[in-house]
Amino acid sequence: MCGIVGYIGNKSGTDIVMKGLEALEYRGYDSAGIALINGDKSQVFKQVGRVSGLAKEVDEKAPEAHLVMGHTRWATHGGVTVQNAHPQANNDQTIFVVHNGIIENFAEIRAKLKAEGYHFDSQTDTEVVPNLIDFYLKQLPSFEDAFKAALGDVRGAYSIVAVSSKEPETLYAARLSSPLVVGVGDGENILASDPSAIMEHTKKVIYLEDYDVAVITKDKVSVHNLKEGKQTEPKVELLDFENEQALLGDYPNFMLKEIFEAPATIKTATLGRARADQGIVKLGGLESVLRQLKHVDRIVIVACGTSYYAGLVGEYLIEELAGVPVEVHLASEFKYRDEPFSRSTVLLAISQSGETADTIAALKKVEDYGVLRLGIVNAVGSTIARMTDAGVYCHAGPEKAVASTKAFIAQVTILTEIALHLSDGKHKLFKPLLKELGDLPAKAQVVLDSAEDIKKIAEKYADYRDFLFIGRNNAYPSAMEGALKLKEISYVHAEGYAAGEMKHGPLAMIDANFPTFAIATNSQLLEKTCSNIQEIKARKGPVVAIATQGNKTIKDLCDDVIYIPATLEETQPILHAIATQLFAYYIAQHKGLDVDRPRNLAKSVTVE
Ligand code: GLU
Repeated sequence: MCGIVGYIGNKSGTDIVMKGLEALEYRGYDSAGIALINGDKSQVFKQVGRVSGLAKEVDEKAPEAHLVMGHTRWATHGGVTVQNAHPQANNDQTIFVVHNGIIENFAEIRAKLKAEGYHFDSQTDTEVVPNLIDFYLKQLPSFEDAFKAALGDVRGAYSIVAVSSKEPETLYAARLSSPLVVGVGDGENILASDPSAIMEHTKKVIYLEDYDVAVITKDKVSVHNLKEGKQTEPKVELLDFENEQALLGDYPNFMLKEIFEAPATIKTATLGRARADQGIVKLGGLESVLRQLKHVDRIVIVACGTSYYAGLVGEYLIEELAGVPVEVHLASEFKYRDEPFSRSTVLLAISQSGETADTIAALKKVEDYGVLRLGIVNAVGSTIARMTDAGVYCHAGPEKAVASTKAFIAQVTILTEIALHLSDGKHKLFKPLLKELGDLPAKAQVVLDSAEDIKKIAEKYADYRDFLFIGRNNAYPSAMEGALKLKEISYVHAEGYAAGEMKHGPLAMIDANFPTFAIATNSQLLEKTCSNIQEIKARKGPVVAIATQGNKTIKDLCDDVIYIPATLEETQPILHAIATQLFAYYIAQHKGLDVDRPRNLAKSVTVE
């Protein structure tokens, strides 16, 4: 959600920032802009729509510059207009600000500044910031002091970068609950919302912490923490993912590429962790808290969107294998409820980006409870990875398409490993499941090899306006995740339901125009799911099902069947996910939609 890039150095910052904005496009945005400072002259270019449009204008009109900052905006306050795009400036057009997040008390600040004679040209919350800096600059000795004073007045979540045409050598940056990372170069420094805009230039990074204010010149990064009230020593870390992973290769888009990375994702998520030969599960990231994990009496999982559904699969796994009660909460709900918490409860946050604002807020809520906070995160070094006591990385590589695919696969794989780990090897499924995790990449590949068949089926159903996804037991979260994928990228109304609930309401919707996607793979409950399919067919509802290879009867029951290899019930959701991802993908593709960047959505949801 929203991207920020800033550059100060000897090279042409204009090109570097524009390329950086391209690299951040996957985060989702609706408009883009750039500010260049050359000597005491400043120029701003802004456009609604794609970065490529802005790049054209910048190519034609913008000079080279050594201090540049750019922004892709995902509108929260004020419509998608050029005026509302960032950078936002003060009334004198000398101070420029890009901002990710929300200034919650902007109305109050705006009123105060209006009373001081300031006027506002945009509807954004952001515009108060450059004007507030301006206001303080008239009273304080330096831009840095004015910047800090302004930050002291704003409430909300933000990453902010500010530049002044009077200081052509310096970038000022601040973060609170919204990501910002500085790439440390040689005679140059680059600032961005995430490392994908930086890694081409340097592998050395400093992750800014909450309340940090950074003053960045081409040779120096100094950091002051507003909360601690003092200068801090920035920790330089090395990025550990490879450039190629973020590139498209031969795929037409990132979503398809990432779906096809499922076998590799499972392999990486299990590598050195699920050791079938030794009969052990070793989760390095949890080693430091093993003793505490022995005394866990309840696990509360908090997550949003696809990660939430991964959490629901985890609930079945952990309860079955380890016998530990699990509750899964939507992070956005969890943070506002009064939840009894004992010290032996563990909070487990799941987030692809590690920057999900609601999930961060849920972690912050329990900060003083004295409970163990764990994370399952993909983005290395992200806020959640850093704020949890321990955790397991997905290591799925950068996920660029807005709709999450391979990260879900990794999350569920890791939850299976956590469940096995907590079971202490005592459950009868311990060894078979450990072995199955080793066989799963090949089975995932088999599902991918049937992509053409899935495509044909998907195209048959592409024109329906509604879809119901049903499943029982751990196929119920698979159904909900399948419905979400379809909604996200093809804008088809879809609902995920527990198959057993059909008679309690949803069956009323079924007719020849309302198809159902039934997850009917081999399980103890398959007969019951088949009865639900019969009930739908009796009401003329078209049915497409996922079934296990070798099931000979299901094709007489359903209109279309997607077959997946036999696997343990516990690992089925991983294969379900690949099939439903492909199904949603091909429907969206058939409709000619932008699968990587669905309308209204952003990748990393850094606002509440
Ligand atoms: N709240 C700001 C706006 O609407 C920033 C949104 C963003 O994060 O892109 O302009």
